[in-house]
Order: sequence, then C-alpha cells, then structure tokens
Amino acid sequence: MKRSLSFLMVMLLVLTTFLSACGSTPTQPAAEKTPVAEVKTVGISMPTKTSTRWISDGESMVKVFEEMGYKTDLQFADDDIPNQLAQIENMITKGVNVLVIAAIDGTTLSDTLQKAKDAGILVIAYDRLISKTPNVDYYATFDNFGVGVIMGTQIETGLDLKNAAGPFNIELFGGSPDDTNAFYFYDGAMSILQPYIDSGKLVVQSGQMGMDKVSTLRWDGIVAQARMENLLSAFYTDKRVDAVLAPYDGLSIGILSALKSVGYGTADMPMPVVTGQDAEIASVKSMIAGEQTYTVFKDTRELAKQTAAMVDAALKGKEVPVNDTKTYDNGVKIVPSYLLIPYSVDVTNYEKYLIDSGYYTADQLK
Ligand code: BGC
Repeated sequence: MKRSLSFLMVMLLVLTTFLSACGSTPTQPAAEKTPVAEVKTVGISMPTKTSTRWISDGESMVKVFEEMGYKTDLQFADDDIPNQLAQIENMITKGVNVLVIAAIDGTTLSDTLQKAKDAGILVIAYDRLISKTPNVDYYATFDNFGVGVIMGTQIETGLDLKNAAGPFNIELFGGSPDDTNAFYFYDGAMSILQPYIDSGKLVVQSGQMGMDKVSTLRWDGIVAQARMENLLSAFYTDKRVDAVLAPYDGLSIGILSALKSVGYGTADMPMPVVTGQDAEIASVKSMIAGEQTYTVFKDTRELAKQTAAMVDAALKGKEVPVNDTKTYDNGVKIVPSYLLIPYSVDVTNYEKYLIDSGYYTADQLK
C-alpha cells in the first residue's frame, strides 16, 4: 500500500514536470512535422461495360487500391478507341500517378503513353498487352495460351476425342484481332485440336481456319451469331456440327442463338460442345440449362489484387512480383508479366469455383 502510494506520487511528479516543461518552452522551435505521405491516384481505364467481367475488374481494383490507401479514377470506354484515348489523356492531365489500362486496341496507345512517360506515370497493361510502345512497365494477366489449351482440352473431353472414332465436325471462332490475347487463345486451343484435324478425326466443314479467317472484331456476339448462321446455312444443312470453339461467353451466346434458330438443343438434335470464357452470369445459367458446355473462369478479384501488389511495389521501389519475363514481346520490348491461373468450369464444378469462392451468390445464378 505504502509502495503504491509513493509510486503514485513519483508518477505525479513526473507528470507535472512534463506538463510544465511543455508549457515553459514557447521559444523552442516546433518539432519538425513528419511529412504526410502524398495520396497517390490510380487511373483505371477499362474497355467496356458490355461484358460484366470488366465491370468486376474495375470494381475489384477500386476496392483493393482504396483499401491500400490509394485514390482511384475508374473509366469505361464503351469499346470506342478515341474515347479510351481521351479518357486516359484526361487522367494524365489530372495528374494521376499510375495508369492501369485494359486496352480496346493495344496498338493505339503509343502517343498517349509517351505523354504518360513524360509525366513520370507508372503504366500497367491490365489483362491485355499494350503493344508498339516502350512505355508500358508491367503486364498483369492470366496464362493466355493456357486459356486456349483449356478450351481445346474441353472439346477433346466433350467429344471424347481420345477414344471415339469420329469423325466430328467443328467450327472455329477467334477473338478480336486487335487484342493479342485472341491469338494466344486460338494458338493454345489449336495446340490440342490441330492433331485431330490433321488426322481427320475433326473436320472443319467450312475450311475456315486461322485467325485471319475466324476472328471476331471487338469480341462482338452479334457478329459471331451472324457468322454462325452463315456457316450453318452454307455447310450444315445436311450435316451436324458437333463442336464450336468460342473464346468468350459473349460470342458463345450469339453462337448458341444461331444454333437454336435451326433446331439444335432438342433430344433429336442435341447442342454441340460449345466453349466460352469469363464465366459470365448469362453463360453460367446457359450451362446450368444444358446449352453452353464449358467456360473458362479467370478470377478478376485475383487479377485486381495482383495488379495492386505490383503497383504498390513499383511505387515503393521494391521488387515487383513477376513470373514471366519471356512471353510478352510487345514489338518493342518484352514486358515483364505476372500470369495467373485460369480454370475450366462446367456444370459439374461451377458451384465450387463460382459460388463457394464468393464470386457469385447462388441467387445470381438462378
Ligand atoms: C480477355 C477475355 C475476354 C475478352 C473479351 C480478352 O482480352 O482476356 O477474358 O473474354 O477480352 O472481353
């Protein structure tokens, strides 16, 4: 008791001395202020809102960057190249510190990115490579060739090509020719399918092969639907198409409409194996309804996180996490990249990848 009383008195003495010291030194120079760290702004330029994946990408990035203490400026460009250039130039004028860009056409940004470089802005190519410029610092994406391999393997599995005698008829669709990803997807898929085409087990009745013949400008589902309708009326009035390689859910939807309009999707005329990509809600519902067969799931939340980690490291002068320094030659340099893993999704496993992971709620898929 005595001890704690004297302890209390000593503490009181210390406190009064401290307080009076504070009050009695008005002439002393004020302690130097710790500089408040400048809040950095990240300009996020996404290509379009017509595909829900880009909306999720944008929203996830805003969330992750803001949690890390950054400000964000998110813009969508309506798949219009001049619009995207104007939005990015506006971000540069407003003084963003970082640009994260999913380009509509990866070759159109050279002049704009020169301005970004001159302003000292860090530039990240997001999901799609930016070409023909030295002014892109890093690339965050998925294993795009691997995405194509998944699609080719889905068709191999869906038709049981390893065991079945065939021959089977297939038609091929590619993505937008101004997006380098489209070539990786096509090449990856063909790495699996070409040997079956060479051996005659798979037959492309239209003969339309190669990205110069099968690409779909701006990933437009209506264009894919029209092409599928033409293919069906020109080559399949007396034959059945057994598989369609489609590299994006938005194309698959158009292709499925064309197929349905000539009677596919019934007991007598079952749907062909149709692939896709992005696990968009409409396509997952279509898979559940037994129409689209497969999609490829790329977790946009993970890509957003990875991008933010790369930006944060670069701005802090730390080592930037990359896992590929060989693949992505943009015509001027090899852009150091981080490739995430894509997953094959069908009706047997969508719950695990899409619902259990919290990407969608079960209600969204009803
Ligand atoms: C993306 C795909 C997407 C496609 C169409 C590609 O660059 O990698 O995930 O399906 O664009 O939006």
